Amino acid sequence: MEPETAAERRFRRVVEAAPNAMVMIDRRGEIVMVNTQAERVFGYSRAELLGRPVEVLVPERFRQHHPGLRGAFFTDLRARPMGAGRDLYGRRKDGSEFPVEIGLNPIETDEGTMVLSAVVDITRRRRLEERFRLVVEAAPNAMVMINQAGEIVMVNAQTEQVFGYSRAELLGRPVEMLVPERFRQHHPGLREAFFTDLRARPMGAGRDLYGRRKDGSEFPVEIGLNPIETDEGTMVLSAIIDISERKASEAALRRSQIRLQELQSELLHVSRLTAMGQVTAMVAHELNQPLTAISNYMEAIAHFLGRGGDLPLGTLSDAVERAGGQALRAGQIIRRLGEFVSRGESKKQIETLSLLVKESTELVLPGTRHQGISIRVHDLAESAVVVDKIQIQQVLLNLLRNAVEAVADQELRVITLLTEQQQDMVQISVVDNGPGLADEVKSRLFEPFVSTKKTGMGIGLSICQTIVAAHNGRLWSEDNPEGGTIFRFTLPKAPADAQADV
Ligand code: ADP
Repeated sequence: MEPETAAERRFRRVVEAAPNAMVMIDRRGEIVMVNTQAERVFGYSRAELLGRPVEVLVPERFRQHHPGLRGAFFTDLRARPMGAGRDLYGRRKDGSEFPVEIGLNPIETDEGTMVLSAVVDITRRRRLEERFRLVVEAAPNAMVMINQAGEIVMVNAQTEQVFGYSRAELLGRPVEMLVPERFRQHHPGLREAFFTDLRARPMGAGRDLYGRRKDGSEFPVEIGLNPIETDEGTMVLSAIIDISERKASEAALRRSQIRLQELQSELLHVSRLTAMGQVTAMVAHELNQPLTAISNYMEAIAHFLGRGGDLPLGTLSDAVERAGGQALRAGQIIRRLGEFVSRGESKKQIETLSLLVKESTELVLPGTRHQGISIRVHDLAESAVVVDKIQIQQVLLNLLRNAVEAVADQELRVITLLTEQQQDMVQISVVDNGPGLADEVKSRLFEPFVSTKKTGMGIGLSICQTIVAAHNGRLWSEDNPEGGTIFRFTLPKAPADAQADV
């Protein structure tokens, strides 16, 4: 053996100092140099390796082809990784195998061209990759890894299940196949933006995201993005969660909340109706007193008058004055009731007119059917009105009940309810085929205590008028040309932007 030159010594030292196993072979495939790392990695001593064919380091099953591949490298000499795309394995002295990565470098020496191979034991990396794969596979949700070109490089079983594609159909394809068509155009831009600002974060902040199944159907998703550094460059691993169920339960929750609110307002409605009933009872009770007093005074006055001239004038004017005082008190009580009804408890909201009418009608229907009364509801306008529902229902109920009483003696008992849209008002009409208004009430219909009914207090219509006026509407009566009475009232429509909400 010739003495080593300084250059050769330097080279040997560099190889020795390399962190990887280094094996140099000559054109015949014989090992001419190894470093300590190579001894350690393969379990052979230097002496056992030098002069032996390199195939001792290759598992038996690959040995046969190895000399051919080796020969091919010598015809195309350039530094490159061995076995592009194939999994490579080294073989230890004890026969065990381990995954390797091998870099090949042609080296020109005095004894001809040699090949210096750097052998990296990638067992640990493989293990990590395998663990990573297992973690991804075991994830409870779909996981899709894409490379910088947006191609799918890895998916788990959940992905197959959620999107309906098989793994083979997904790998190597653009990730946009999992995105609904209408978002596809923008997706590559967003994807590239993520690669320029790599940090784990949820996708599409604030936007609703959807996945697209193989069958074209869509489902709402939430997506977490994670940049992953790999040997093949930066990848993005996305965790995709199908939130259809959550959305559905959210919707169910919203629905039950709405139902609850409805129930609450119904409850409120009922309790307020009861409150109203109590107030009416209280008013009736309070009114009873002045009215009885008035009637007593009137009786006394009549009595005095009937007795001719022998009554003291003072007593008569006193009785008239007292009766007048009681009438004033009765008026005050009515006003108080009016105030309570129209202002004290007023709670105006946007309501749909047709619903309001339907609900009120339903409240009187049970009592009317067996009386043979047919209530016809026509042309209900869908307009929105801003009203206190309870109060307007009270008006409708009052008009309907009056109409029910009015038609009681008719052979054919028909009540018709209609609504009509006007420029900025809606008009509601309650039409009956009763006997029409009695002459004695006609001109004072909306004054309190005007009644032709034995048990009537005659305050219903006066309260109705107060309520409608408090809503900036108008209530009046007309003769029904076909016989009977028509009560009409108007309400202002809600502003245009509220109309769309109903
Ligand atoms: P009440 O019903 O207690 O009498 P209202 O103010 O509701 O009080 O009605 C006053 C009066 O108006 C009634 O007594 C009745 O004479 C008359 N009236 C109301 N509605 C009708 C109707 N649809 N047809 C005929 N008369 C009616």
